[in-house]
Amino acid sequence: MRDSAVDCDVIVIGGGPAGSTAAAWLARAGRSVILFERDMFPRFHIGESLLASVNDALAAIGAADIVRAAGFPQKWGATFMSADGIVERFADFAEAPGVPMPQTWQVPRATFDQLLLRHAAASGADVRQGCRVLDVAVEAGGVTATIQATNGTSAAHAVRGHAVIDASGRGSVLSRKLRLRIDEPRLANLAVFSHYSNVPRREGRRAGDIRIVSRPDLGWFWLIPISAELMSVGVVLPRTAARGFQGVDHGALLERAIGETPAVAALLANARREWPVRIEKDFSFGSRAYAGDRWLLAGDAGSFLDPVFSTGVAIAVESGLEAAQAAADGLAAGDLSARTFRRYARRQYQRYRSFRRFVLGFYTPEFRELFFAENPPLRMFRSLVTVFAGYWRPPLTTRMWVAAFFVLVRLQRWIRIAPRLGAHPMETHGPAAAG
Ligand SMILES: Cc1cc2nc3c(=O)[nH]c(=O)nc-3n(C[C@H](O)[C@H](O)[C@H](O)COP(=O)(O)OP(=O)(O)OC[C@H]3O[C@@H](n4cnc5c(N)ncnc54)[C@H](O)[C@@H]3O)c2cc1C
Repeated sequence: MRDSAVDCDVIVIGGGPAGSTAAAWLARAGRSVILFERDMFPRFHIGESLLASVNDALAAIGAADIVRAAGFPQKWGATFMSADGIVERFADFAEAPGVPMPQTWQVPRATFDQLLLRHAAASGADVRQGCRVLDVAVEAGGVTATIQATNGTSAAHAVRGHAVIDASGRGSVLSRKLRLRIDEPRLANLAVFSHYSNVPRREGRRAGDIRIVSRPDLGWFWLIPISAELMSVGVVLPRTAARGFQGVDHGALLERAIGETPAVAALLANARREWPVRIEKDFSFGSRAYAGDRWLLAGDAGSFLDPVFSTGVAIAVESGLEAAQAAADGLAAGDLSARTFRRYARRQYQRYRSFRRFVLGFYTPEFRELFFAENPPLRMFRSLVTVFAGYWRPPLTTRMWVAAFFVLVRLQRWIRIAPRLGAHPMETHGPAAAG
């Protein structure tokens, strides 16, 4: 491939975790990179609970110390609770096999994303905020991005590179243009959320846990301590459960869902809402492709899965890193064709499929019945936690335990291995039972 005159090696679209990670790695590898970010940071973004696997990507771009110095709440795992709070499963990343650095963070994304974007610039990337990428054209001699200032003060202009990494999040420039998106009708969920103060926390090491509270309608709550004062609180409702809230104002919906979920209502008894209530829906989707000639999709620009296992930022930083490495390899080999990126694309697809199995499972009664069952086999439970920590491709023994869990989930449909949801404390105390 002979390239005509270009402004940089790689154009990165989007300054979220995926884009900043890609840009930082490429710049540190000596590649010229221009990153365009539509917004001016800091800006609000949902997605505040990180997985342990994020540590590896942060270390790879030299940002681990910067994030550590920011003093975010420490997260060691997740506590899964029944709606009435009687049943608790603590997924401790430190006890899971194959998790090298179990402690991770809960982050206000405005601060976290700004740290990473600044780090990309400090690493040598040309970071241009307030610049929207309107279009990308991929030609034989390079890629051309059409850029316009978000505040509309200047005319659109073109910037050329050898390759492009699209990390523009769920609005993905390339995915929309190439019609790559695959809907996930089984995950057409609704999320309603805000930030609260004065919510009690645990003492010590578990103070920074995310709490996931299961609802009898197969929805669930998250409670994430994102700073010393603030708790991010949100409810995710499957489409069928959301129907029961139709026509209800967002604030009232959140309040009603809180009131219906005794464990959450107890925790928020004296809480004060500090932010507007926000809503997101239909956020899960797959992709027909993750790379092609001269282009790669990273993070949500490729695909996104329901937030129940907090995989979003972990996938974003890992895929950002892998996209950067694939682009650098292609540049070094003088081959930026889809063939060069085949391995990258396969890995993105496999990761998506691997987490998807868990996410789809979580919205079935049989998965939750087994997950909340008393005294689960320890090796099996810890193997699941390895995946919950972000290590989706663990060593063989761990994978076998995970596979065994899914066999039991299938069997649970027909044979009662664990108590049915109707016989479970979380249902007998919940609104479904009452109704
Ligand atoms: C309800 C909900 C809860 C979630 N909770 C969690 C959680 O607890 N933990 C977790 O890990 N993940 C969570 N996520 C997922 C998480 O928000 C995303 O997966 C993550 O932000 C993806 O990072 P990214 O860099 O790919 O995209 P983004 O963070 O979305 O960044 C994309 C960037 O691209 C910019 N951009 C967009 N279009 C253009 C353009 N045309 N030109 C230039 N710039 C552009 C945007 O301004 C943005 O800054 C949640 C998601 C939802 C919907």
